[in-house]
Amino acid sequence: MPLVSMNEFLPAAKEKKFAVGQFNMNNLEFSQAIVQAAMEENSPFIFGVSEGALKYMGIEFTVAMAEAAAKQSGLPIALHLDHGSSFDVAMKCIRAGFSSVMFDGSHYSYEENVRLTKEVVKTAHAMGVSVEGELGTIGGVEDDISVDEADASLAKPDEAIRFYEETGVDCLAIAVGTAHGMYSGEPDIKFDIIEEVTKNIPVPVVLHGGSGVPDEMIKKAIQAGAGKINVNTENQVALTNAIRNVLSSNDSVYDPRKYLGPGKEAMVEVVKSKIRLFGSNNQA
Ligand SMILES: [Zn+2]
Repeated sequence: MPLVSMNEFLPAAKEKKFAVGQFNMNNLEFSQAIVQAAMEENSPFIFGVSEGALKYMGIEFTVAMAEAAAKQSGLPIALHLDHGSSFDVAMKCIRAGFSSVMFDGSHYSYEENVRLTKEVVKTAHAMGVSVEGELGTIGGVEDDISVDEADASLAKPDEAIRFYEETGVDCLAIAVGTAHGMYSGEPDIKFDIIEEVTKNIPVPVVLHGGSGVPDEMIKKAIQAGAGKINVNTENQVALTNAIRNVLSSNDSVYDPRKYLGPGKEAMVEVVKSKIRLFGSNNQA
């Protein structure tokens, strides 16, 4: 199966109230662990690739790994640019074979965000590529993006509804109190904002910063209308802890497969548990 746009599964997610996981790809082990977990759970999913990860892996390797995963699994998989910062980077990804892009214009004024997002949507849709937009500012640290908690601002429901109507995005990331990276305490998620927005637009909202959010809150967010949830940090932590365990207990290990293997297995478990929590198992 070739890579597909998010419209292959997001409408069903919205209708049946489940969420599709965006699992970020950072190297070969991530792509293998994520697709293995999804195959075991028979789930659609999204490979998220940040601009930092894109630089690290190279665009050709990124697309090749995602295409191999789609071909091997037969699952509906979208390859999605995460937090794209410009029209140019979005187009570069689409030309290389991405089936979905996020344009994050949240640091611009509302008007400028609408104008730039519309441009991306117009071109992407002409090529069958789906687009995620962002409104409000999501706090925390992710790759090159760092937003101080004080600068994080919640999305206003009426503005989010208008943003959808003006841009025609396929899903909308709105700041509702989650943050990128690890939480120091419990997040304060504004479920009423999610609900108010999703009942007025035909597409789901996206929850960024899904790592470390208590399961009950995730379930509540999905019931309120979150149809796409992003997970990266938990996989990074699982991989690194597993590697650290192997290396700290054995000084003579030098074969990378001896420590990357356990790291990969740890990520498979994380992704499987997220897929079941999101309810996207058996929805492929
Ligand atoms: Zn994000």
